[in-house]
Amino acid sequence: QKFMTGLSKTSHNFVSAISDLFSRTNRIDEDLYEELEEILIGADVGVKTTIDLVERLREEVKARKIKEPAELKSLLSEVISEILKRNEQEQHLRLNEDGLTVILFVGVNGVGKTTTIGKLAHRFKNEGKKVILAAGDTFRAGAIEQLETWGQRIGVDVIRHQAGSDPAAVIYDGIHAARSRKADILLCDTAGRLQNKVNLMEELKKVHRVVQRESPGAPHDVLLVLDATTGQNALVQARQFGQAVNVSGIVLTKLDGTAKGGMVIAINHELNLPVKLVGLGEKADDLQDFDSDQFLHALFR
Ligand code: GDP
Repeated sequence: QKFMTGLSKTSHNFVSAISDLFSRTNRIDEDLYEELEEILIGADVGVKTTIDLVERLREEVKARKIKEPAELKSLLSEVISEILKRNEQEQHLRLNEDGLTVILFVGVNGVGKTTTIGKLAHRFKNEGKKVILAAGDTFRAGAIEQLETWGQRIGVDVIRHQAGSDPAAVIYDGIHAARSRKADILLCDTAGRLQNKVNLMEELKKVHRVVQRESPGAPHDVLLVLDATTGQNALVQARQFGQAVNVSGIVLTKLDGTAKGGMVIAINHELNLPVKLVGLGEKADDLQDFDSDQFLHALFR
């Protein structure tokens, strides 16, 4: 329910534009395809994904000899569904069933990394798991304290060093603390400053190496956190982070209050990455698993 409410802006705009388009037109022609492209780009599906999507539609319309615009609508839903299902196998968090699960969070400042870690810790705690947080963003002023505040609020330990210290050392300590305290889950925050991208990417590579070395099989997930309100810029960020670490999934935050939900399609199509979690507000329980059926339902109800 929360998922649908969070998507309400995207849903409202998209549904009304699409039903308006298909009620006005009675034949499938170039104008219809063009207007459809505009609607998709308006929902932040992205130019490349939109062009590919509409190309697929044209092919299918020809192959199936479709004449009615109304049929085109269900075909569109089918083609979008195809894109989302491509990564469906990878949609769930990879939990280590017999030992410590380590999840690394990356992304630029302000996208909602720290908040997402707090929310996810809250969820795991409620499931009866022992969670530890590692305050690896030693750069952003206040990031360590912010994570500690979450830790206190939900009752989980936070491993921290002082501001400005080496993030890889914090994560190292996090892994060893998690092991000796027999934790189930270690959630690692990292820095997201963009003032010096090269340094940041080198730092993330180092953190990644330390995790791999200290905990075989880890990190189980490397989640790139993207802010839905930044639209197509988020895809640029994803490509940059993808060069430094092997991203395994996306957390799309701030979906509440934005009509840019079409980004989910672009993320799957252009980055070939699953959206694993979505942020739908600032509170502890405003984090949901991504559900492709509900997402489609929101677009085509
Ligand atoms: P970080 O720099 O990536 O760690 O970002 P923060 O976790 O500090 O989040 C930045 C701001 O975004 C904070 O004010 C959060 O409360 C807010 N925020 C994070 N996730 C969401 C979300 O899903 N929805 C909304 N509306 N706000 C969010």
